[in-house]
Amino acid sequence: MTGGVATRRRAVVTGGSGFLGSHVCEALVTAGHPVTCVDNHVTGSRTNVAHLLDAAGFELLEHDVSTGLDVSGDVGLVLHLASPASPPDYLRLPVQTMLVGSEGTRHALELARSKGARFLMASTSEVYGDPEQHPQPETYWGNVNPVGPRAVYDEAKRFSEALCTAYRAEHTVDTTIARIFNTYGPRMRIDDGRVVPTFIQQALSGEPLTVAGDGSQTRSLCHVEDTTRGLLALLGSSHQGPVNIGNPHELSVRDIAAAVLQVTGSSSTLVHVDLPQDDPKLRCPDITLARRLLGWEPRIPLREGLASTVAWFADRRRTSA
Ligand code: NAD
Ligand code: UDP
Repeated sequence: MTGGVATRRRAVVTGGSGFLGSHVCEALVTAGHPVTCVDNHVTGSRTNVAHLLDAAGFELLEHDVSTGLDVSGDVGLVLHLASPASPPDYLRLPVQTMLVGSEGTRHALELARSKGARFLMASTSEVYGDPEQHPQPETYWGNVNPVGPRAVYDEAKRFSEALCTAYRAEHTVDTTIARIFNTYGPRMRIDDGRVVPTFIQQALSGEPLTVAGDGSQTRSLCHVEDTTRGLLALLGSSHQGPVNIGNPHELSVRDIAAAVLQVTGSSSTLVHVDLPQDDPKLRCPDITLARRLLGWEPRIPLREGLASTVAWFADRRRTSA
């Protein structure tokens, strides 16, 4: 890991068995940190961290952080990543999503407060909702429908950001907020419903790719290794954020479909399906701040990142066949 945390303190990673959390745990272990991964496996999986179970200082606690968070001994870093993150997951688990973004965040912040630890909140570009400013800088306040279906995720993350700000003000907790944009890569659940795993699965199976609406809506895809490096750079800095961590290479959903077809060599067709309610029309990070504060920017081009992700999914399909 580069650009990360200098001193080797125990890190508690909530949601550490998830897609992104498992890469964060791995990077922290590689950098020599003892890591406690806390996860209830509601959307993540123990297999994501199976390769770390024998690593020195790594431990996995199966636990719901919405009910409390108690870790004995010294803790220098708390990273709160626990939350369903795929739209189908949080639509299926609306109350759990709100609880982990409220009670879960409070318990994680209390742990950081009691241990004097630095705290990183994994927030999201969804705090910008369906944005009226494009690209989105951190100064934009967002456009979220508070009673729409996505609100369970968006408002929970907005609450988490506000709670971090309150703990910083009232309890001087050393908090920072990362606003993470769409991240993809190995260890996504093939059936988690997000666009990249869905299109890859469909392309590899020769099924039509399900393009929502006319596919003109945009996203900006960041490879998980780049996102992880950005999160650890922010964690290792003294900045309070929020800081956008994402790739400014903006693509329409149709572009994403075309890229997946090209990388897989699939002859799948496209089929248009209903656009979900409140689906953001545009999304692209302004990463001026991350470049200036952290010297961070993504390095992995889309085709290269997609190729390694497709290879990973193809391998999983072979071994589970
Ligand atoms: P994921 O679903 O793979 O991982 C989330 C993990 O949190 C899972 O392992 C799940 O079991 C765990 N979890 C959920 N509720 C929990 C609870 N109450 N107690 C303990 N563990 C719990 O999703 P991901 O894509 O890896 O996202 C990780 C974090 O990053 C989330 O907070 C998400 O909001 C944030 N984020 C991700 C993206 C992205 O594109 N991947 C973008 C923006 C923000
Ligand atoms: N999407 C799609 N087909 C799918 C899954 C998603 O066209 O099978 C679209 C979705 O409607 C959205 C974009 O792809 O416009 C990104 O969706 P995803 O769920 O990956 O992330 P989010 O909406 O949270 O950015």
